[in-house]
Amino acid sequence: MERLFIATEEDIRQGKTMDVYFQRSLAVLKALDMEETRVKAEFSAGSLPAGWPWAVICGTEEVLRLMEGLPVDLYGIPEGTVWRPRSSRGPRIPFMNIEGPYCGFGEMETSILGMLCHSSGVATKAARCKIAAEMGHLMAFGNRRMHPALAPMLDRSAYIGGCDGVASPLGADLIGEEALGTVPHALILMIGDEVKAYQAFNDHAHTGVPRIVLVDTFSDERFGALEACRTIPGLEGIRLDTPGSRRGSFRELIQEVRWEMDMAGHHNVKIIATGGLDEDSISKLQGSGVDSFGVGTSISNAPTVDFSMDLVEKEGDPISKRGKFSGRKYPFRCPVCLLMDVSLDRDDEMDCQCGTAMEMIEVKMMENGLRTSVAESAQHIRNRVLEQLRMIHDNDNNRKI
Ligand SMILES: [Zn+2]
Repeated sequence: MERLFIATEEDIRQGKTMDVYFQRSLAVLKALDMEETRVKAEFSAGSLPAGWPWAVICGTEEVLRLMEGLPVDLYGIPEGTVWRPRSSRGPRIPFMNIEGPYCGFGEMETSILGMLCHSSGVATKAARCKIAAEMGHLMAFGNRRMHPALAPMLDRSAYIGGCDGVASPLGADLIGEEALGTVPHALILMIGDEVKAYQAFNDHAHTGVPRIVLVDTFSDERFGALEACRTIPGLEGIRLDTPGSRRGSFRELIQEVRWEMDMAGHHNVKIIATGGLDEDSISKLQGSGVDSFGVGTSISNAPTVDFSMDLVEKEGDPISKRGKFSGRKYPFRCPVCLLMDVSLDRDDEMDCQCGTAMEMIEVKMMENGLRTSVAESAQHIRNRVLEQLRMIHDNDNNRKI
């Protein structure tokens, strides 16, 4: 079989996916005997896509795995930190710093940025959907819109951003959870009859598979839901994937289904809504009776965050290009309102606008290519995200969505 259109892990580690101008620059620097010239590089962004006020930093663990063995020290704010791009005084707030000989890591810039920009975009979008769902249950179903080689990264990022579950077995494996799913239209169409399909699914799906079925392939949602409830004793949920052409008011449709299932005594059967959902439509369905949202394209196709890597120090001297602030900077954050600032002094004492003392939140993650911090589980990182999202959710002033 011929090779698929993907880079292998070895290709990435060997720098084959870098922009070629880095490779050419390194050749020049080596010719000038500058292989050992040490620099400090910071990672930041000038602004965020779509007017987002904050982003969830994601992808750090993968970057650490990429950088292992290279002659660098790496510092960063913990993965899963809700981060703001700029201080109110103007400087960008770096979320990661790499120190070492430029020639020792420069060729990795493309890959490092790609990991961070993409993962953080997906995690942030998932976090925004989580807040739109009033912190309710959310599942990431969007892998089909992206290249399959990215499925584990997409699933991990969506989960860290706040999704409760992911669809691909490989992604689920990476985060240490079971893959989640319901029933596709194809199964109902193959069997040709909804009731027979529900029966067959209940008879043949493994015992541990949640009994959740799709009720709108041929039937009206309300009658399909009641039919599913009658067919599968102990049914856990029904999925509504009503097509756009039939949607009218999806909210009213869901309310009616909930009402009729309750009337028939099926209070425990949950309603899962899917189909083109995004932050706005999730928000509009709040309180309609939806118990879980399956979100696809809007999370997997999240805008990428435009992080950049900039040299801010060379052989101990501050340096930067036009438009950037020079010098090694340390990120500080208010533990109460999550506002951020920077200082050139890691031991600085800074107060937030709210009067609370800010904390320096950068940690050392790698020394000369060896990790100095313990790798955190995806669950642990996700819990950190959820804690911050609750703070944002509960604080109307910060909730600029
Ligand atoms: Zn504060």
